[in-house]
Amino acid sequence: MRFLTFILVVGMSAGLSAQNTAEQPLPKLERFSVDLGDKSLDPCADFFRYSCSKWNKANPIPADQPAWGTFNALGIWNIAAVHETLEQAAGSSQRTPVEQKVGDYYASCIDEAAINKAGIKPLQPVLDRINRIKNKSELPQVLAAIHQTIRPANLNFLEAQYPGVLAGIYPAPDFDDAGKTIAALDQAGMSMPGREFYLKDDAKSKEIREKYVKYVAQLLALTGTPQAQASSDAQTILRMETELAKASMDIVLRRDPKNLNNKMSLQQLQALTPSFNWNRYLSGMGAAVSPQYLIMAPDYFRGMEKLIKSEPVEHWRTFLKYSTVRSMASSLSQPFVEANFDFFARTLSGTQEIQPRWRRCSIYADIDLGEAVGQAYVKKYFPPENKARMLEMVKAIESALDEDIDAQSWMSPTTKKLAHEKLRAQVDKIGYPDNWRDYTPVEIKRDDFVGNVERASAFEMGRRLSLVGKPTDRHLWGMTPPTVNAYEDPQTNTINFPAGILQPPFFDAAQIDAVNYGGIGAVIGHEITHGYDDQGRKFDADGNLRDWWTKDDAASYDKRDQCIVDEYTQEVPEAGVKQNGKLSAGEDTADNGGIHLALAALTNTLKAQGKTLDSPAEGGLTQGHSLDRYRVNNVIANMPEFAHAFGCRTGQPMVRENACRVW
Ligand SMILES: [Zn+2]
Repeated sequence: MRFLTFILVVGMSAGLSAQNTAEQPLPKLERFSVDLGDKSLDPCADFFRYSCSKWNKANPIPADQPAWGTFNALGIWNIAAVHETLEQAAGSSQRTPVEQKVGDYYASCIDEAAINKAGIKPLQPVLDRINRIKNKSELPQVLAAIHQTIRPANLNFLEAQYPGVLAGIYPAPDFDDAGKTIAALDQAGMSMPGREFYLKDDAKSKEIREKYVKYVAQLLALTGTPQAQASSDAQTILRMETELAKASMDIVLRRDPKNLNNKMSLQQLQALTPSFNWNRYLSGMGAAVSPQYLIMAPDYFRGMEKLIKSEPVEHWRTFLKYSTVRSMASSLSQPFVEANFDFFARTLSGTQEIQPRWRRCSIYADIDLGEAVGQAYVKKYFPPENKARMLEMVKAIESALDEDIDAQSWMSPTTKKLAHEKLRAQVDKIGYPDNWRDYTPVEIKRDDFVGNVERASAFEMGRRLSLVGKPTDRHLWGMTPPTVNAYEDPQTNTINFPAGILQPPFFDAAQIDAVNYGGIGAVIGHEITHGYDDQGRKFDADGNLRDWWTKDDAASYDKRDQCIVDEYTQEVPEAGVKQNGKLSAGEDTADNGGIHLALAALTNTLKAQGKTLDSPAEGGLTQGHSLDRYRVNNVIANMPEFAHAFGCRTGQPMVRENACRVW
């Protein structure tokens, strides 16, 4: 598993509007402005409202989006920029091999009439294979055929679960020897986003499950199952997925890498699931047999064994058929797309309308051929001078952490030395990969969209499995260039910033340092801090899961961490839930450390220019959006620098009496 961690900065106080008209193909990118703050409000009472309410009022959630903030708006802008390059590649006659692939992929996707005419037909070969299952002993080879047809999951979201079919297989650095890549096997039995969707007993959860069963029946009926049979099959699916959900490891336990580090020989793995022959599965996948496998959630495989034993073969045919169609539904004809949208977007995330087809096709092109699609995007929208300025900021923030480590009175010289070493060994990846992935073996046809998805997916699965048994490559990317996000990966000891987030309002070449340190600087600091949060600190400079802290230092760390956990464990009245500070401890530590380090780096940078923070400039701090208000208010209430800048007094809400501080 890659321990990828994300920034979740949603909604900064910068405006961004997203019209998309014929006269103006790209939405307008607005810049950061201090005028976005509501000057009639007291920043010391509720900084989130002060900085975001004006923007939020002016920018309601668009009907085709689940949420809205400058983060989402930049995502829409990026995909519109990608769309421009795809249209160009689709229409041009003089094309490079890369342009042929991305252009024809896009052309095949935008041809909705052809996709509607084909219906379920393109999936028929794999569905026929599933229908021919006579005996449960055939499950492994059929599962391998499915795993080479559907899109492999995005490896960046594994803290929750691998959203595949029954089981996931992917390359992962060995927890104990990160320089080596081994094959990980993971839980993947749920179609809904997490265990609680199956297990919670409140009225809302029950209602969602009722709608889910209707959706399953609808999907099965669309594939040709008679209606009455489809309805009873849907109950079977819910029951089987519920059993697998019960066996799955929950999200809080998955945050502790120790729980995932279960290495087994093939023989030991086989003993967990006597009814599922892993040799047959691996040979069906074309995966070499390895001396050891990383079994992320052994209990899940025990549960899978129980279910294989207890359910008759016809239920397994239904389970695999449904899971395969569900995985591909968004790429099939209109009725599948609509059914899929209605449940997963409208019911689960409240999105009212489906996005226009050109945008969905641009997103699929980015998912399936990301490092081919990203080349034109980067050439046009991420010039070398932006990369140079970004690298300068990263270095300044790393220096700030070096100074911060030295200044900690609670850390011993031994631990400090190792912390510096870890920081020095970190690889900073900015914008896009040094070597682009070669998609030459993927055949892309202008008139076969589903086939293109299947061939790109099989290629990606093969590429991932080819990494197993090899030295870990620290220069591979887990996100595509136009992605609006960033991550830190403690096992490769890297921080990664795709070009997609290095755009206004986060990074803006036209803005002064104060604005950029407040925007992307806080993100850089956030990612660097992840290497030293409750999770990241368990990995050493080489990315190994090894405790390099003295006992006393670890105890002091935990005490500081607990302050953050307590501060963020709070009722969220708007959502009717209680935030679990233990679940978000890593992110909260990174939010706090990130802004602190960015501010320190900005101070150093200004000093070198003969200036100080008191030279007139306001704002520049990263702010949250709607329920994220605690991410904003808790962070700044922990910062005496904030109280100083805004003249806040002791006792005001934004001045915390016992401020928390890790980094
Ligand atoms: Zn994060």
